[in-house]
Amino acid sequence: MAINRHYDFIIAGAGAAGLSLVWNLLHRKELQDSRVLLVDRKLKPLRDKTWCFWDDRHVPFQDLIHHTWDTLAVRFQDAQFSETLETYRYHCVRSDDYAAKILDMARRSPAVTLLEADIDSFEFESGASATGGTAVMHSSEGSFTARHIFQSALRPPGFHQLKLDLSLLQHFEGWHIRTDKDLFDPGTATFMDFDVPQDNGVTFVYVLPFSKRDALVEYTLFSPEVISDEAYRQGLEQYIAQRLGLEPGSYEIEYREKGVIPMEDRRYPARYCKNVWNMGTMGGLTKPSTGYTFTRIQHHTSAIADALSRGQNPPDKIMSPYRFRVYDMLLLYNLHRDPETSVTIFRELFRKNRFDRILRFLEEHTRFDQDLRIMASVPWMPFFRAIYGMKHRILTGA
Ligand SMILES: Cc1cc2nc3c(=O)[nH]c(=O)nc-3n(C[C@H](O)[C@H](O)[C@H](O)COP(=O)(O)OP(=O)(O)OC[C@H]3O[C@@H](n4cnc5c(N)ncnc54)[C@H](O)[C@@H]3O)c2cc1C
Repeated sequence: MAINRHYDFIIAGAGAAGLSLVWNLLHRKELQDSRVLLVDRKLKPLRDKTWCFWDDRHVPFQDLIHHTWDTLAVRFQDAQFSETLETYRYHCVRSDDYAAKILDMARRSPAVTLLEADIDSFEFESGASATGGTAVMHSSEGSFTARHIFQSALRPPGFHQLKLDLSLLQHFEGWHIRTDKDLFDPGTATFMDFDVPQDNGVTFVYVLPFSKRDALVEYTLFSPEVISDEAYRQGLEQYIAQRLGLEPGSYEIEYREKGVIPMEDRRYPARYCKNVWNMGTMGGLTKPSTGYTFTRIQHHTSAIADALSRGQNPPDKIMSPYRFRVYDMLLLYNLHRDPETSVTIFRELFRKNRFDRILRFLEEHTRFDQDLRIMASVPWMPFFRAIYGMKHRILTGA
């Protein structure tokens, strides 16, 4: 059957952002008659990411939550803290569950056409229709047009020219391990364990237990370069042996995940070109100082669907408010220049604040007076240095 070449909306990229937008479009009754093309090079559920988050108010697919922890623990060389959360809870969603559910919903909907193709580029063709132009996607399966394209596949044009002072990578390898003895508390997630060698940058491990006998153990670094496969393996084996008391061979590795998340102060444009909108990582939705992106994606795609259902254009501004961009920059500056002090900053943050307050701050839901209280709880000097180092950005809109 010949495939249609024109749609109301094209969703280019079917990862966290693209699939969330499909879900949202299908749940707005004003958009029931819209025709949607969903494109990715592979439209199959893949277990390659475990997304963690704590603000679940805007995550529409609550039934996809794989596990929830009420208590978080953090550990430093000389201190450890653990707290049961009051406002939030820490959740995780598996990428294969997420894709399976939303792709199935899309396949069953008469509104959605699915296409496996390599996306090459986008452009805006002006004057091609009475509505003043159309957005075009060029792909290995030919060209397709739409009123709006939402893309999470390609870097926006001019990406390398965007203002950038600080660029780190959050990179990690995680093993989902299974043991034959009870070892874990499935109610407590180790959010950050910094009590590991810090030779290659700020390094910590997080442990997400799903039952008494299985957990995802993730060895994570914030540094300018990734490390070798062998170094991740050693880091994980050492941690599992020393902290969990399991020698290699005494546990099964059920699944491995690896990833690199950009931690940068680059300001991404909202559009790729006219009527082509950036989403997800390609929309700059990653929080520069933490790498968390998943909840921000959910807020953004929900806001897009709301705007479209009101007959409006999608939001033109997706950056965080100015003051949070400045905080991110200052923390990123320290993570970049002074890893050792950064670990001290994290220690004081967790020592002196309720965990819920820290999570609210990271979610950018705190008031200015609450921000000040949090800032007063950590060493000031590194932040004064960072303000001086980043003054050219702070004074020009961050
Ligand atoms: C392993 C891992 C774990 C993470 N864990 C967390 C977490 O716990 N919490 C959190 O908040 N964030 C996390 N993140 C960060 C972020 O949430 C994820 O990267 C998230 O998947 C970003 O969503 P996205 O839609 O922008 O990109 P993706 O989910 O990567 O989707 C992009 C899609 O575009 C497709 N694509 C790309 N190029 C092309 C092309 N040329 N043609 C056709 N298709 C193309 C890809 O196949 C992919 O399906 C994690 C990231 C990784 C890598």
